[in-house]
Amino acid sequence: MIDCMEKLKKRSEQNKSDCWDLTVMIKNQDEYEKKIQEVKELNQEIVRMKGKILDNKENLKNFLKVSEKETRIADLLYIYVYLKFDEDTSNSKSLSHKLEIEQLLNTVSDNESFINSEFMQKDLKDILPWLESDEFLKSYKLSFERLYRKKKHILSEKEEKIITKALNAFGTPDEAFTALDTTNAFFGKVILDDGTKEVLTQYNWQMFLENPSQSNRRRAFHTFYKFYEQHKNTFAAFLKGNYQELEFLRDIRGYESALSMALDRICVTPKVYDNLISNVHKYININIEYQKLKAKVLNNKEYHLYDTYVPIVELEQKKITKDEAIKIVKEALKPLKEEYLKKFQSIFDSHAVDFYSNEYKHNGAYHWGCYDSPSYVLLNFNGTYDAVSTLAHELGHAVHSTYSKENNSFEYYSYDTFVAEIASTVNETLLSFYFLKNAHTKKEKMYIFFLFLDKVKDNIYS
Ligand SMILES: [Zn+2]
Repeated sequence: MIDCMEKLKKRSEQNKSDCWDLTVMIKNQDEYEKKIQEVKELNQEIVRMKGKILDNKENLKNFLKVSEKETRIADLLYIYVYLKFDEDTSNSKSLSHKLEIEQLLNTVSDNESFINSEFMQKDLKDILPWLESDEFLKSYKLSFERLYRKKKHILSEKEEKIITKALNAFGTPDEAFTALDTTNAFFGKVILDDGTKEVLTQYNWQMFLENPSQSNRRRAFHTFYKFYEQHKNTFAAFLKGNYQELEFLRDIRGYESALSMALDRICVTPKVYDNLISNVHKYININIEYQKLKAKVLNNKEYHLYDTYVPIVELEQKKITKDEAIKIVKEALKPLKEEYLKKFQSIFDSHAVDFYSNEYKHNGAYHWGCYDSPSYVLLNFNGTYDAVSTLAHELGHAVHSTYSKENNSFEYYSYDTFVAEIASTVNETLLSFYFLKNAHTKKEKMYIFFLFLDKVKDNIYS
C-alpha cells in the first residue's frame, strides 16, 4: 500500500509545472473586473430589447449575438472562480470572488427571466421563415425547435420572474450540504492496529478502504459514518429542501414527475431511464456473485461493505510518476490513433491539468471548462494504478470536450451526462487492457483485473 498519510503541501508550495494555469482564462484582477463590467453592460443591452426581440428578423439576430457574447463571458467568469476556489478552498479572496459571481449571475438571470415568455408569445411557425431563410439564423433552428417543444411548461413573464427569484433562494440546501460534506467535514482520528492515530479526511478515505488490515478498514469505516450519523438530521433537512425545490418546479411548470422534468431538459424519455434501472436490477445477481468471489479470495471470516474496495491481492507497488503516467496512458490509447493522441497531448501543453493534492484542494477528480477556455482537469494524483486510471478517465472527458468545441458552435457544444461517460470509460478500459497485457506476474494481472471489475461495478452502481 502506498503511504496516504504524507503531509499535504500548501498551495503556494506546489510546483507551477504541476498546476493548471488559470491565467489563460483571466490574467489578473483588472481583467476580472473588466469582464464583470462587460457582463453587466450586455445584460442591460438585453433588458433594453424587452418586448422587441421578435419584432423583426434583425432584432432577433441582434438579440442572439448579444446573448451569446454575454453567456460566453459569464461562463468564463463562473468557471474561473470555481476552479480558482477548488485549488485552495481556504483562500478568502477566491471565496469572495465566488460569491460575487454567484450574485452577478443571479441578477442576470433575474433581469432576463422575461426572455422565454417573450418567445412564447409567438409560435415556432411564426419565426420559422426567418430561421430557414437567413444563414446566421439557420444555425439556431434546432435550438428553437427544442425551446418550443417545451412551450406548455413555460409560464408568463411574471411567473418566470418569481421562479427565478425562488430558485436563487432554493440553492441554499445544496450549498450547505457541500460545505458540511467537504470543507466542514471533520471525521476525527482512526486508531490503527499499531496504536498510532491518523486523521481521516475526505482526501484519504478511499486509501483507508484499501488498507490491507480488515480491522483498520473497519475502524475507518465507523469513524467516517459516525460523522454522518451525528449529522443525520441536518442532512435530512438538506434533502427535504432539495425535494421541496423539485416539487415546486414540477408543480408550477406542470410536469407529471420530477424525473420527466429532468429528462425533458436533455430530450430523453422516462422509458429510457426506466429501462436502464430495470436492467440494472435484472442483472444485480452478477454483482452479488462477484462480491462472493471477492470474499472467497480474501478469505476473511466476514465480508463487509468496508471490504469491497480492498485489492484482492497485496501488491508491492512502485509509485508511478506523473511523466510515466502520461506516457503509459498515451501508449494505452494508441488504438484511438494519431489525431486523438495529439489532442490528448495538447491538454498538457496548455497547462490545463492540476496534478497533486495540497491543503484544502477539492478532493477527487473532475474535468471542467467552457467554450473559451482550455479543457481543465483536476486530479489528486498519488502514483497508484488507480490514479493513472483516473488520469485516463478525466482526460477522456477533456479530449471529448476539445473535440466538441472544435466541431460545434457555442449553441451546441455542450453535452449531457447521459453520453459524457462514454469518452472516459473507453479510455479506462483501454488502459486496463494495456496494463493486463504488460503485467509481469500472475499477481499483478489479478490485481489489475479486479481493479477493472471494480470500476465496471462502480460505473454502474454509483
Ligand atoms: Zn467521468
